[in-house]
Order: sequence, then C-alpha cells, then structure tokens
Amino acid sequence: MTQTPTGSTHLAGVIGWPVRHSRSPDIHNAAYRALGLDWVYVALPVPPGRVPAALTGMRALGIEGLSVTMPHKGAVAAQVDVLTADAAALGAVNSVRSDGERLVGDNTDGGGFVDSLREAGVDPAGRRCVVLGAGGAARAVIRALAGAGADRVVVVNRDPGRAGVAAQLAGDRGSVGTDADLADADLLVQATPVGMGDDPTLAADPELLPDDAVVADLVYHPLVTPLLAAAEARGLRTVDGLGMLVHQAARQLQAWTGAEAPVDVMRRAALG
Ligand code: NAP
Repeated sequence: MTQTPTGSTHLAGVIGWPVRHSRSPDIHNAAYRALGLDWVYVALPVPPGRVPAALTGMRALGIEGLSVTMPHKGAVAAQVDVLTADAAALGAVNSVRSDGERLVGDNTDGGGFVDSLREAGVDPAGRRCVVLGAGGAARAVIRALAGAGADRVVVVNRDPGRAGVAAQLAGDRGSVGTDADLADADLLVQATPVGMGDDPTLAADPELLPDDAVVADLVYHPLVTPLLAAAEARGLRTVDGLGMLVHQAARQLQAWTGAEAPVDVMRRAALG
C-alpha cells in the first residue's frame, strides 16, 4: 500500500542524468513502507552544470536526504559543506544528508560493497584481493577493502596510469597488477561495465584463480554475469552486484532516518 504524502512528510530523492530508470525510488520507498516511516523518495533529473542549483534547492525545500548518481558524484563533493572521510578520499559523494544548515556528503558505495560480502559470509580481512577497474566504483571498493583489513589490493585496469592512482587508495597494501595476479588471489572483484546487459565478454578467466577463491561482480544487470557464470561453473563461490546496490542504499536510509534498514525488503524491491 502506498502512503499518501502529507504536509509533514519527510522528503528524499536521487539526482542524476539520466535518472528515470534508477531502482533507488523503489528500494527506498519499499523500506519506508515496511518501517511505517512518513518519508517519500523521488527521482530528480538534474542536467550537468545544475548541481549547485540542485543543492540550493535541497536546502530551500528542506529535502533531508539525497542520493547522487552518475554523473554528479564529483560535482556534489565539491559543493557540500562537510565531507566524511570516505567521500573526501574518493572525491565523490553518493549520499547527502541535511544537518541543520549544513549539507554533509558521504560515500556509502565501498561500505555497501563490504556489507554485501559479509552478508554472503565473506570477510575481506586478510584476503589477497584483485580489483578489475579503476573508475568510481572500483575506487570505492579498493578503499573499503583496505579499510576492512584486506592483506593486499592489486588493481588491474586497461589504463595502468589510472590503476596506479586508484591503488593509492589502499595505502601501502595497494599495487598495480596484471591478470597474472589472479593466480594467488583469494578475492576477485569485477568493477568495470564488462558483462553488462547483453555483453557476453568474460571480464577475466576464473580458471586462473585458486580453487577456494571468491568472485564478486559489481554489475547487477544481469544478476549472473558471464564472469559469475564461469566462476560458478568452476565451482567458485560468487557474490553478485545487487548486494552492493542494496547495502549502499541501506546505509543511506540509516543515516537519514536513524532507522535500521530492512535489507530483505530493499532487495526484493531492487529485483522489481
Ligand atoms: P567508470 O567510473 O566509468 O569506470 C569504468 C572502469 O571500467 C574504468 O576503470 C575503465 O577502464 C573500465 N572499463 C570500461 N570499459 C572497459 C572495457 N571494455 N574493458 C576493460 N575495462 C573497461 O564506471 P564506474 O562508476 O566505476 O562503474 C563500473 C561498473 O560498476 C558499472 O558499469 C556498474 O555496472 C557497476 N556498479 C555497480 C554498483 C552496485 O551498486 N552494484 C555501483 C556502481 C557501479 P579505463 O580506466 O581504462 O577507462
């Protein structure tokens, strides 16, 4: 049942361009309904260059929480009043919270990824990790894996220069590598768009991994990517990208409303 907004309903939303197909309104509104919270979450298309105006609007309209998606994560980081340590290190914000007069920018992507691993029974502590990709999602994951105690985080990317910059987010446990590093990896994280939609490309060869390795893919459309299918066929444990999507939203909901996020409800909503 949909709750009808009233004069006292709390407002939240997502800004992006395009944003119409975002799953976030379904995920957050399902959680509000399950918790009986008088909140509503909408998709707000904001064209490039309009981020300062959107944040002024957030303040003026009393919007209490905003998710931020492509291509605005960097622009929002440059515009909010306060950044959390994660958002400052990444130079990217995916969640803005109103705190009185101040807007606080956070990044819940990396934490959400680690939550999804732990939910699947995989603790990154002490693991030798290989991350494919060095873009925004990979960077968040690299920092979070190091923060969660990974033994090392090797970054493999098409552009090795970008890999080097991203690897620095893991401090002295970060380095740049190649596919050869899969041979002694405990955890492989696929953080490029390879395998999305109808793309049949295998992002890496799971045959190169040890028998007890775990393979995670950030791509969640399809849920079982070519990489995860190949890893499963080899008998390896896999973690799909939906968990990260759900848990980064769960962290946002908790920060904005103070309520504990109903993760299972949010996952069902994400599946549509
Ligand atoms: P991004 O900032 O554009 O970075 C893309 C990365 O992938 C770059 O490192 C790029 O390499 C690499 N890449 C792109 N096409 C490639 C190809 N054909 N072969 C090899 N490498 C390629 O994108 P992003 O925001 O990090 O997102 C990456 C993917 O993660 C998205 O497609 C999305 O599916 C997924 N994602 C999932 C979640 C979730 O909640 N599960 C959240 C965010 C993102 P170069 O540096 O060499 O260009």
